[in-house]
Order: sequence, then structure tokens, then C-alpha cells
Amino acid sequence: MDFTYLDYNASAPLPYKLLAEVEKTIQCSSSNPSSLHKLGRQSRRLINDATEIIAKFIECDPQFIYWTSGATEANSWAIYSAVQYAKYLGKSEVKILISSLEHESTLMAAQALSAHYKITLDSIPALPNGEIDLNFLQQSLKQTSSQPYDLVSVMAVNNETGVIQPIEQVIQLCAQYGAPAAGVPSARLPSTGLPFHIDCAQALGKVDLKINQLIQPNQIGYFTFSGHKLGALKGIGFLAVVGEGRLLWPIVHGKQQKQLRGGTENPLLVHILGKVIEALSNNEAGFPEQLLQYRNQFEFELKRRIERLHIHGQDSKRIRNTSYIGFDGVDGDTILVNLDLEGICASSGSACTSGSIDPSHVLLAMGINKSMARSSIRLSSGFETTWSDYEKVLNVLPDIVRRVRGY
Ligand code: PMP
Repeated sequence: MDFTYLDYNASAPLPYKLLAEVEKTIQCSSSNPSSLHKLGRQSRRLINDATEIIAKFIECDPQFIYWTSGATEANSWAIYSAVQYAKYLGKSEVKILISSLEHESTLMAAQALSAHYKITLDSIPALPNGEIDLNFLQQSLKQTSSQPYDLVSVMAVNNETGVIQPIEQVIQLCAQYGAPAAGVPSARLPSTGLPFHIDCAQALGKVDLKINQLIQPNQIGYFTFSGHKLGALKGIGFLAVVGEGRLLWPIVHGKQQKQLRGGTENPLLVHILGKVIEALSNNEAGFPEQLLQYRNQFEFELKRRIERLHIHGQDSKRIRNTSYIGFDGVDGDTILVNLDLEGICASSGSACTSGSIDPSHVLLAMGINKSMARSSIRLSSGFETTWSDYEKVLNVLPDIVRRVRGY
């Protein structure tokens, strides 16, 4: 059966034309990139070239990029490093402010660290439209300016709703309200502003993201990325850390990557991610503009054909490929099973929580009630999506919902 794949936010397929590139690179990347011989140097070159391509695309110094196994590891690493940095600056208690919309990998990393360090963990609430409450953030940074936070964490785009978060303003507020901690030796303070972490896993290739244009001189920022959300192979991501001084503290120990992230780098995965980004820069992959028209038309038609549905974050600025829809009185997982029987791949939001009965923490943070949260499914499109994929969903979904509702 042909599949209708509308689950790009969970993982995007490898662009077909890169299949041959994978086969070719498997052969020429089998050496250890740390080996000094010719084949080792060949592997190293694959990594260096891809790093250059990516650094250019996101506008940051290639020196600031560190390879990881994905955004999950990069998020953990960013939070851990910010805690260590605060301790290095002499703080006895570390203060972290995290948006309630963050991916589990960020929330759970902060919670796990709280069990081992003295950490005050505060939350930025969300608005019903799916954005973080920027006023709340501003007020809390203002009120705590004598004892500022050691990290503010806000994602660039929410993976479930697709709502674009106001990260420019977040970064500006971090610059405005960051003050050196009392008693910290100035030699240890090469940077200014509050350190911040931006999870860019769902943003790359979908919104304009230029680090050098976002960040002010001397600011400290951790930006995290995932390869497979763009069509690269799974198991690769990176952390871009901006700012002077000791901002990274290893969680995976070893000599590679300036002794900050040990483990032999995988030239194949890095190279293919570089190729995906190269294709993106040439508009040959990723998330084309026309997806916006398809998505909006689809949502319009769906509302016409199915009553009592709610499109989460519909009135906010969203990335062009995502629809997150709640169907009153219907179990979301039952809809997914029925769509699957029709060959349609969708998900209930965050792939990492699929299969669990917990309602989405993102929807709950937006004030959506539990039953509506449990009735929600996410459709997310990408490079290979055509209007006929959406049409197929329009042809079967109204009947599925009617059947499950029992009329
Ligand atoms: N952050 C966000 C916003 C995500 O959507 C995801 C993937 N669901 C991750 C982090 C984790 O990415 P990875 O699969 O590369 O570990």
C-alpha cells in the first residue's frame, strides 16, 4: 500500500536523491576521523565541510558547533552546562526558568538535575494561543534582576502546535536583564546577559534562523538542533554555543570535539546532514512555501466537513506544515489507528509520548481541557507532500470521526 506520510515533525524521510549519496559515503567514511592517515583525513574533511555548510546556513562561527546524537542530547547538554557554568561563577543555588511548552527532553533534563544540585526551577506559562507568556517573562526577569536566572529556556517552534515562539524578544530580554552575580570575580565573566537556551529542533528549515542576527555581542546562548526533523539520518544533531568563556561541560567524556563531547564522530551522519542543509539552501528539500496553502485549505475544508473540532494555535504564527486538531468527544488514538488502516501516518503530537495515555503537556499548558487534549492529532507535511495527500485525509477523516462519535 502507498503511504500518505503526514508525520514530518516526528521524523522527515531522507530525500530520495540523497540515497545514492548515503551509499557512496558509507564507503568513503569508514575511517576514524581522528586517524592521521589519508582515509582518516578524508573522514575528517566530510565533517569539516558539513560544519562549514551548516554554520553558514545558521550564521554562526563553525567553531561553536558541537556534534551530538540529536536534539535530546543537545538539550540535556545545554541545561547541564548552564548549571555547571553558574556553579563555576560561584553560585550556591542555580536558578532556571523554562517555558511550560518545552520538549520533554528539556523539561526532564532540568528535573533530573534538580535531584542532584540545588536548583530553583520556575516555569514560564503559555497563552491559550500557544505562545509563551512574554509579559510574564519580562515581569519575572525584572523582579529577579538583583538575583538573576542562570538560564532561560524557550523553544523556537513548538513541535506539537507548530506555533512560532517570540525568541527574538526572549533573547533581547535576556540581554536587558542579565547582571553579573554579586561577588563573582570579573575575570570569570567574559560575557554579559542571562544565558539562554533555544531548542531549534523544529525551527531549522521552517523559519529563518540566523544566530548572529539574533544574538547581541557578548551574549551567551545555547542553540540545539536535530538532523532527522529535516530529512537527515537519525542519530545526529548539534549544539551551537555562542559566547566567550567556559560554557560547555562534558556529559560524554573523551578526547574528541575539544574534549567537550567524547566519542568518535560519525562522518556519514554529519555529511548527510550537511547535504540536506545544502539542498535546503538551494530550495531542493525541506518545507516548500506551497505547504502553507495546502495546510490552510485543508483546515478550511476540515472545518466545513466536521463539526466540533478545534485547531490548536490556529490564530498564531505557525510553521507552514503543521495542523494540530482536537475532535470533541473522540479519542485521538482511535482516530490515529483508523487513519493508519487507511495508510495515513499521523501522530498524537509529540512522538516521544505516543503510546502513552497522558494528555499533551503542551495543550494543558495552553488551557485546553484533558478530554480535548486526548482527542487531538497532529498532521505535519514536508518536501514530498502534495495536495492529494491532504485530500486523502479529507476523504476519510470525516467518516472516521462520525463513526467513532457513534452517528
Ligand atoms: N526538541 C524538539 C522540539 C523536538 O521536536 C524533538 C523531537 N521530537 C527533540 C527536541 C528531540 O530531538 P531528537 O529526536 O533529535 O533527539
